[in-house]
Amino acid sequence: MIIQAINTEVKYIELKTPFITALRRVEVIEFVRVSVVCSDGEVGIGEAPATMAITGEDIEIILASIKKIKTTLIGLNIKSALEELHKTGIGSSTKAALDIAFMSLLGFFTLEDISSINTDITISLNPIDKMLSDAKIACSSGMNILKVKLGSDIKHAIEVTHKLSATLPQAKLLIDANQAWSLDESLRYVNAVEEFDIELIEQPVVAKDLRALKLITNATKIPILADEATFTLADVKEIVKTSSADMINIKLMKCGGVSKAVEILEYARVNSIKCMLGSMLEGPYSINAALYLAFNYRDVIEYVDLDSPLLYKEASDELDFIFSGSKISAKDNQKNLL
Ligand SMILES: [Mg+2]
Repeated sequence: MIIQAINTEVKYIELKTPFITALRRVEVIEFVRVSVVCSDGEVGIGEAPATMAITGEDIEIILASIKKIKTTLIGLNIKSALEELHKTGIGSSTKAALDIAFMSLLGFFTLEDISSINTDITISLNPIDKMLSDAKIACSSGMNILKVKLGSDIKHAIEVTHKLSATLPQAKLLIDANQAWSLDESLRYVNAVEEFDIELIEQPVVAKDLRALKLITNATKIPILADEATFTLADVKEIVKTSSADMINIKLMKCGGVSKAVEILEYARVNSIKCMLGSMLEGPYSINAALYLAFNYRDVIEYVDLDSPLLYKEASDELDFIFSGSKISAKDNQKNLL
């Protein structure tokens, strides 16, 4: 199978309501869909969303990066193209889009265990009353694993957590600060919420400050999860070596795609590291790719954070999976569809 052409298309998906975190506000998901066309007519598809605030890549950068490397990739077989791709210095989400397309052409996307899994649902950063009502609506629709986005106002963060914990005891609270807090604020937060039933706190401080992350991890019984601090397997190993966090969040767009996520998952499996499998706000093909991993590495992945399709204004028919509230099942006709 020799690569004959690599085509790109910019796509948009409208969200039901704005997605708001400490880092950004999104109303429409923008992403590049890449199609890798082979000499035997097979086509592999991958996607990369624009997440400048996290990967440093917008639509223009993703398109320019693909244009730059496609002459190197065209004419190669898929395995050689995959190797070449990961030698280049292009951004991680562009790599992920191409990696997903290549892994699809290699027949990677099959399921071992088709029993359903559950995703969390994001509660965007908003005034307290709005966050409480969003959380109540989610729980009453059977979605009780809540990814709660908190911001730099630590008083608001503590109050939201208290109220959610008090009014929705059935909810599992995954707190995500997206790097918004200082070390002092983080310590103030963990002291204030220690008595509540919180599943974990994700990336309280800036990604590069592993020292602060470790001090917070040591200061609380609540598990601390590294997200923006872990892009690659090397980052994960550094977190483990320095004991800076209890868990890691793996995302295709950070690590460079499925083949790289597999390396991290295998490392996590061998070293008994608990993981979350997350995503950016993404289109259906890259979410499909992440879901195959979530199904096949369910022994390693403790939390699935793949709720993008639940946030789409209109349901997508390009998913290989069915979302029913937080429950995700494989489509009956699922057969290596990607
Ligand atoms: Mg996060």
